Amino acid sequence: MPDSTVPAPLSKARVIALANQKGGVGKTTTTINLGTALAACGKRVLIIDNDPQGNASTGLGISHGQRDVGTYELLFGDAGLEEVSIKTDVPNLDVVTASVDLSGAEVELVGVGRREYRLKDAFARSRIAYDYILIDCPPALGLLTLNALAAADAVMVPLQCEFYALEGLSHLVRTIERVKRAFNPQLDIGGVVLTMYDRRNNLSDMVAADVRGFFGEKVYETMIPRNVRVSEAPSHGKPVLIYDHKSAGAQAYIQLAGEVLKREKKRQLAYG
Ligand code: ADP
Ligand code: MG
Repeated sequence: MPDSTVPAPLSKARVIALANQKGGVGKTTTTINLGTALAACGKRVLIIDNDPQGNASTGLGISHGQRDVGTYELLFGDAGLEEVSIKTDVPNLDVVTASVDLSGAEVELVGVGRREYRLKDAFARSRIAYDYILIDCPPALGLLTLNALAAADAVMVPLQCEFYALEGLSHLVRTIERVKRAFNPQLDIGGVVLTMYDRRNNLSDMVAADVRGFFGEKVYETMIPRNVRVSEAPSHGKPVLIYDHKSAGAQAYIQLAGEVLKREKKRQLAYG
């Protein structure tokens, strides 16, 4: 009989890194709102704010006073997730915040041992159960992002529906391949999500078609529309699903979560 007081090992969690070295493509917005939508489906979700800008922490309504420990302590201390994660206002959704020191981490990581594996090692010593861990990466391919990629099962790439969407993407794909070879053989692009889609703009459709041509079935059918409620929500410290759950943006993220869960089920059936 399994003892319900002992949490399941963290290795059961599906770890997804949201990465794209471009800023402003919707990484943080997707992390917060996909995380909220998965939590609303009853999944236990953890968001790790791995960007010194701390936008995911802010968008989840976590004040600076509540950020005395966070991702920095995971990377440089011996804390487990259970010691640094905090609850959000969303049931089933926890966050590890970007504590102030994280802004120095990129430089400090250069000088420490197992510098690409600090996050993975932190996961290994953690004793807390989640179904999904979403890591919000900074807009760079430095050591913070490498730590996320080395610790992840899959990468989710948000792409903004704009003319330059595919620019720089080969660099990202090469980086993922390199991390796969050197640090994390199981890593793969799990999905590509098109963000800030504008159906009145022909360019949006052209970009979407291009991206689908390049990534094929990796691209989620759900496209996140450009929606003012999505951009307003963070200033209220709320995911758009809470701020205005009827908005087109909130509905799209619920649909995206459905696709993520469906793919996960398929993957589990295929690989056990
Ligand atoms: P990144 O984390 O990749 O830098 P963000 O998620 O912070 O990108 O998004 C960049 C900006 O675009 C933010 O101001 C955000 O509120 C806005 N934004 C993101 N997604 C949408 C959307 N679907 N509709 C409108 N604004 C959006
Ligand atoms: Mg961001």
